[in-house]
Amino acid sequence: RFKDKVALVTGSSQGIGAACALRLASEGADMILNGRKLDERGEKLIAAIEQMGRRAAFVEADISQVMGVNHLITQAIQTYSRLDILVNNAGVEKNHNFWEVTETDFDLVMDTNLKGVFFGTQAFVKHCIANKVAGVVVNMSSVHEEIVFPHFAPYCASKGALKMLTRNLATELAPFNIRVNNVAPGAIATPINKSLLNDEEKLGKLLENIPMKKLGTPEDVAGIVAFLASDDAKYVTGSTYFVDGGLTYHYEEQ
Ligand code: NAD
Repeated sequence: RFKDKVALVTGSSQGIGAACALRLASEGADMILNGRKLDERGEKLIAAIEQMGRRAAFVEADISQVMGVNHLITQAIQTYSRLDILVNNAGVEKNHNFWEVTETDFDLVMDTNLKGVFFGTQAFVKHCIANKVAGVVVNMSSVHEEIVFPHFAPYCASKGALKMLTRNLATELAPFNIRVNNVAPGAIATPINKSLLNDEEKLGKLLENIPMKKLGTPEDVAGIVAFLASDDAKYVTGSTYFVDGGLTYHYEEQ
């Protein structure tokens, strides 16, 4: 579905971002990968994509800073002389009681999960409008754009903001043939959930609340990202697709 397209996935060294990069490449996209530093994980990913017969380049950039994310988009466009798909995947979370959150904690989460998405998308959209590219943006939101997550107040605030940003941009950018959607994963087995995965009691309690009684995989999320990035979703914009085994709207029997 992505022959002759170039796609950028932010924060793609591991987890959901890496799975998205592999999935898009497997369907024909040339890939721009990103992280703050290229390491062994990034190198392995480049090799895997090249084995599929696609091209892959890694751009080192901190997307939580406007200068960093602008540099990333400029490099991404220059590398293969085009950019069609932006997956705003990089994100962080911090576990704190609300009354103990510091300005540094707040800024890290908001700058990564919201400011980086905002200005990265802005730079991409400028490119799309100037070059008449029917660009596609897929934001990695979370079920916590919708449901509460005590002790993760900045995270919830950032993902809730992403929900409205997506709806607003979908409307404003539709006349330019640019689509913007959110994917909202539930509990996915990735390194971000390391402490949960290592705590049997916590994990058991979480699974009780998931109708499908299992965690999702990064590949489950990547499949929905690929759908939204493709022409199969050409009439879809401003939506959130939940990938959560039924978690968000589950019914608790009393
Ligand atoms: P992860 O921690 O495994 O991977 C995130 C990647 O982003 C890492 O490689 C990290 O280095 C990179 N990154 C972080 N800050 C960055 C920055 N400033 N600049 C560049 N790269 C940066 O996390 P994941 O579970 O794969 O999550 C990916 C996205 O999915 C996040 O936005 C997260 O909020 C969202 N999400 C994950 C889950 C889950 O259960 N795993 C659930 C809901 C939403």
